[in-house]
Parts: sequence; structure tokens; C-alpha cells
Amino acid sequence: MQALDIQPCSLNAQHERLRDEVRQFLAVELAGMSPGERARNWNGADPDFSRKLGARGWLGMTWPKRYGGHERSPLERYVVLEELLAAGAPVFAHWIAERQSAPLLMRFAPETLAPRVAPGVARGEIYMCIGMSEPDSGSDLASIRTRAVQRDGGWVINGSKLWTSGAQFCHYMIALVRTGSDDGKNRHAGMSQFLVDLKAPGVTIRPIYNLMGDHDFNEVFFDDVFVSDEHLIGKAGDGWNQVTTELSFERSGPERYLSSTQLLIEMLNKADASNAHHAVSLGRVVASYGALRQMSLGVAGMLARGEDPATPASLVKDQGALVEQGMPDVAHELFGGRIVPGSDLDAVMRYTTRVVPSFSLRGGTREIMRGIIARGLGLR
Ligand SMILES: Cc1cc2nc3c(=O)[nH]c(=O)nc-3n(C[C@H](O)[C@H](O)[C@H](O)COP(=O)(O)OP(=O)(O)OC[C@H]3O[C@@H](n4cnc5c(N)ncnc54)[C@H](O)[C@@H]3O)c2cc1C
Repeated sequence: MQALDIQPCSLNAQHERLRDEVRQFLAVELAGMSPGERARNWNGADPDFSRKLGARGWLGMTWPKRYGGHERSPLERYVVLEELLAAGAPVFAHWIAERQSAPLLMRFAPETLAPRVAPGVARGEIYMCIGMSEPDSGSDLASIRTRAVQRDGGWVINGSKLWTSGAQFCHYMIALVRTGSDDGKNRHAGMSQFLVDLKAPGVTIRPIYNLMGDHDFNEVFFDDVFVSDEHLIGKAGDGWNQVTTELSFERSGPERYLSSTQLLIEMLNKADASNAHHAVSLGRVVASYGALRQMSLGVAGMLARGEDPATPASLVKDQGALVEQGMPDVAHELFGGRIVPGSDLDAVMRYTTRVVPSFSLRGGTREIMRGIIARGLGLR
């Protein structure tokens, strides 16, 4: 068995000055936001807010200037993300494009698509969604059936995608589709990624309402959707290799353990300092958050050193989901029966209780994360 080596990573005075700057900005921008709205955390979308972050230089922070980036360090970006998440800022409009779609284009379409699209992402004006899952293909992405067939000057896509978060307001999807057969030996062969304009003829987006009654994700249908050759990302047939890179961008951020901060804040606000039961239960949650933060910062440190954080990032996601999924139970145990209907705690608890089951599904299920961890440790 191999050891899991997450090196401690500390932030310096310059990072803490940036943190102060972000806090001051958020204090003004989010002044009127209720705890119930903040509980939505990175599920809340507000394009005006995204544009303001872009104007401050807090999107695309680590990217090269030629892509509209600011050439700052991954740790500076980490501080900004941490503050946005802790405040429950409405970041979802730009989140996926900034986190994974534009970085994927910079890696695999650096001269064609990235210069066209990434600067708009860094300004907080262009939003993108993830086109991986399909009906009957979630964990097992190698079984996707959406197919692109080559035509003069481009490709024609037919099929559908499922659970596509944010497609209703996004400009583009990065879609993983089948362009060849799996050649009988390698199930991961014959897939490719395309940048699809969601306004293109033949694209239909239908809402799916989740447990909270919110419209966060969608079904997206492709009926003879034409995309030019230029919209092929990287090389035809390299889709599997590329999508695993995209997934490692997707899974390595602090949002994997900072999705329910508002419930912790509400519980701490309501806690009785003289009650030992409150102190022990909330102390345990805070200690878990502390450990997860060190691990998550360690992942950011690995990214800063150019190392691959796939195993520790999966561990943070798995353990982060466990801690956050346990928090509504802690809240019920400590405050249940004494929560004033319509109060801030009531609103935050209602939302968090219903949203946490999704934390061990989105971005890869618990079983898949544990499989990745086991492989990283040499156990399978
Ligand atoms: C809130 C939310 C947002 C999402 N947003 C997007 C999005 O924007 N774009 C997108 O493409 N997808 C998105 N998804 C879909 C998500 O990626 C899939 O739900 C997830 O990958 C699981 O796929 P599935 O739902 O098909 O379940 P399945 O893969 O069918 O899994 C069902 C169960 O079987 C288990 N299982 C499956 N395979 C194995 C295995 N090999 N070993 C052990 N256990 C296994 C799983 O862990 C799970 O418990 C989103 C999902 C949620 C909940």
C-alpha cells in the first residue's frame, strides 16, 4: 500500500491581505443577502455578481494574460474561493467555466478556442456547462451513446445529455461524445470532446426540478446539431484522456467541503456556550472542518507545485461530503423542536437537509471516489 502524502501548506501575509480585500468587497456586495439565500452557496447564480468578480480580477486568476487571466498563484485563487464559499456568494453562473471548461480549452485548444472563449470567462460574461452524463451513463462514462459523425467542414451531433447543471443560462457546453467505436479492446477509445454553442439549431434544453423544487439541472437534446471542425477540442479519439483531466479540475477545489457553511454559522450563532452538549457536537464539526481545510489547502499546494492531486482531492471530496451530510442531523439533535418557523435557522436547515444527499453524487459518486482513492493507494 502506498502512503497518502498531503504536505501542509500555509498562507502568507500577502494572502491574508487579499482575504481582507475580498471580505470587504463581499460585505458591501452581499449586504442584503439573507442566510436562507446564502445557504444555496455555490448553487446560487447571479451574472451581475460574476461580472463584478471579473472586473476585480478574481476570475481566471491563475491563467496567462493572453487568455484574459491575471497570472496570480493557485494559493491566491484558493483564498478568493474560500471567502466566496464561506459567504455563500452567488457564484454558480461562472463557476464551471472558470473552474474547468476554460482551463480545459487552454490545455487542449490553446491556439483556437481558448483565445476566443477564455477572456469572456475571465470577465464573468461567458458561462459553460458539463456535458458528460447521459441517460444510463453516469459513473460509467465509457458507455455514452451521444454520437458525432463527420461531415464536410465539421461534425453532426445526435443524442442527449442528462443532469446538465446550469445549461438554461450557459452559452456553451463541453460535450463528451462518441466519434468512433471502442475498437473491441479499449472501452475508452473512440470518444471526443466538442465545444457546443447552446443556441445552435437542433439544441433543446428541458428543465429538471430537483428535491428543493429548484431548476438547477436539465436534459439537453441534440438533433442533427452541426459544429465546425474548429469546435473539436484536442484530437478526435482523445476524449477519455481529456475528460479525466477535466474531472481532476472539477474535483480539486474547496467547494467539495465548503457547501454548507451557512448551517454551521447559524448553529454557532444559536449555540448556548454553557451547554456542554452544544460545545462537544459543534466542536466536532469545527474540528472536521479544520482537518478538511488543511487537506484542501494541501491539494491547492500540490496544484501550485504542478503535481497531480487526484487521490487527495478525491479524499477531500469524499470526507467533505460525509461531514456536510452529517450536519443537518447535528442541527436537528441540538435545535430540533425549538426552531422558530420562518427563522434564519429554519430556512437554512430546510434547504441544507434537502440538498446534502446530492453532495455524494455530483462530481462523481462516493463509491467512484473511493475506487479512485483505493487505486491511488495501490489497493486495487
Ligand atoms: C446536483 C447534481 C449536479 C450534476 N451536474 C451534472 C452536470 O452538470 N453534468 C453532468 O454531466 N452530470 C452532472 N451530474 C450527474 C452526476 O455526475 C451523476 O449523477 C453521477 O456521476 C452518477 O451517475 P448516475 O446518476 O448515472 O448513477 P450511476 O452511475 O448509475 O450510479 C448508481 C449507483 O451505483 C454506484 N456505482 C456505479 N458504478 C459503480 C462501480 N463501478 N462501483 C461501485 N459502485 C458503483 C454509484 O456509486 C451509485 O451509488 C449531476 C448530478 C447531481 C446530483
